[in-house]
Amino acid sequence: MITSEVEVAPALLPPTAANFSAHVSVLVVGGGGCGLTAALAAHQGGAEVLVLERDASALGTTAMSTGLIPAAGTRAQAAKGIVDTPEIFAADILKKTRGETDPAIALELARASARTIEWLIDDHHVPLTLVDSFLYPGHSVKRMHGTPNRTGAELMGALSAACDRRGIDILTEALVTTLFADHSGRVCGVRVERPDGTHEDLSCDALILACCGFAGNDAMVREFIPEIEGATFFGHPGNKGDAIRFGRALGAAIADIHSYQGHGGLAAGRGIPILWPLIMEGGVQVNVHGERFSNEARGYSEQAVDVVAQPGHVAWDIYDARLHTLMTEFDDYRDAIEGRALLTADSIAELARSAGIDVAGLERTMSTVAACVRGERSDPFGRDFTGKPELRSPYYAVKVTGALFHTQGGLVVDGRARVLRPDGTPFPNLFAGGGAARGISGPSSWGYMAGNGLLTATTFGRLAGETAATAAR
Ligand SMILES: Cc1cc2nc3c(=O)[nH]c(=O)nc-3n(C[C@H](O)[C@H](O)[C@H](O)COP(=O)(O)OP(=O)(O)OC[C@H]3O[C@@H](n4cnc5c(N)ncnc54)[C@H](O)[C@@H]3O)c2cc1C
Repeated sequence: MITSEVEVAPALLPPTAANFSAHVSVLVVGGGGCGLTAALAAHQGGAEVLVLERDASALGTTAMSTGLIPAAGTRAQAAKGIVDTPEIFAADILKKTRGETDPAIALELARASARTIEWLIDDHHVPLTLVDSFLYPGHSVKRMHGTPNRTGAELMGALSAACDRRGIDILTEALVTTLFADHSGRVCGVRVERPDGTHEDLSCDALILACCGFAGNDAMVREFIPEIEGATFFGHPGNKGDAIRFGRALGAAIADIHSYQGHGGLAAGRGIPILWPLIMEGGVQVNVHGERFSNEARGYSEQAVDVVAQPGHVAWDIYDARLHTLMTEFDDYRDAIEGRALLTADSIAELARSAGIDVAGLERTMSTVAACVRGERSDPFGRDFTGKPELRSPYYAVKVTGALFHTQGGLVVDGRARVLRPDGTPFPNLFAGGGAARGISGPSSWGYMAGNGLLTATTFGRLAGETAATAAR
């Protein structure tokens, strides 16, 4: 059974039960990255738009994120001589998901991804540049685009400013509890609950669900992704699974409900993500015995479960000054420095002692890693260390735990972000994107490739806005 904070309110009512006080052509539920992108696109398509956001400010998971959006074939990539195509990108997505996602949707998103980046830069002044210093796990070329300090807060700031410039209203403290729809599945409006308990019914021509997934709903996490229940929740608490609740009531198709973005590198007790370039460029993770326990470079999402399975549910990232310097590109890492989350020492033994890791165990592990880097032996976990420099003194360590960031299962949509029924036919005026829609991450945590979250938030958001504006007309 799906439980939600708004469980007391029915998910769906007939239009006859509504008392509409106002009409807006396109309503958007949720003011995160997907919602604001959708609103901008719908407005540009000529529609009057209103964003309904439950919180006092429009931030969502997007503002907590690193804000990196992958795209294939952008101007920024071309300027750096990077050859990338939607086909290469889609092939990476399919490889990461072991073929367990919809290949047509993966290709559609990959094809639309460059347009999303250029459109955000050119039409909405979102300052996105290519991250060319690191190759993220699963991506065969560099294709992440981010704001100057690589933060989702900056991205949300730019999207909010763009909405402001266009005169798009964002109604905050507006929790959507109920949809009104007729027998054909046409959505006629929504019921909004205000913090003082009062309700308002708003009618619309088209509705976009951009209210993310269910990571903030303990009961749903327990039911659908129990493997990550013991991890730290580091996502947006207001994401209670309402899109799934509405979709179920309408009879929409829902898929990949067990899919989520985990993270195996949340600084323990500090709530700061230590990002994966540290690992991809040669860092390793060990447990309290000083032992590695997996191929960390497969991806950070699946690593969450592996870290949570270690003694005390913790691990340590072990790296060196070269990687420390590289990581200072990221705001999060600079926060970790300021928050004194890092340990440093001249020798592995000293580092182990100050971290409380078994000294002999860590020395043994690091000499095995060095031998792998030199090509003298193969890694027992199958990691390819080719081309990575050997770690050198001074060494660094940061204690991390596994986290749940957001969920990736949801309403099945087509290539135009139209919500589908189980028989594949679209609802006439219902759209979804971001964490509210089924992503391209397969059925579990291991299919999540870096950037899948904001790819589906911004590109499905743009497509949902464009298609909704047309449907509303
Ligand atoms: C630490 C961290 C780092 C990340 N880094 C990246 C990254 O670099 N690249 C990447 O691609 N992804 C990243 N992600 C994932 C990414 O943040 C999400 O995939 C993305 O933000 C989802 O966008 P969204 O708009 O669907 O949801 P959100 O941004 O969560 O927005 C949903 C909004 O809907 C509102 N809402 C919910 N229910 C209702 C309701 N009933 N009525 C009204 N409002 C409602 C919520 O309050 C929220 O504001 C990261 C996530 C985390 C936690």
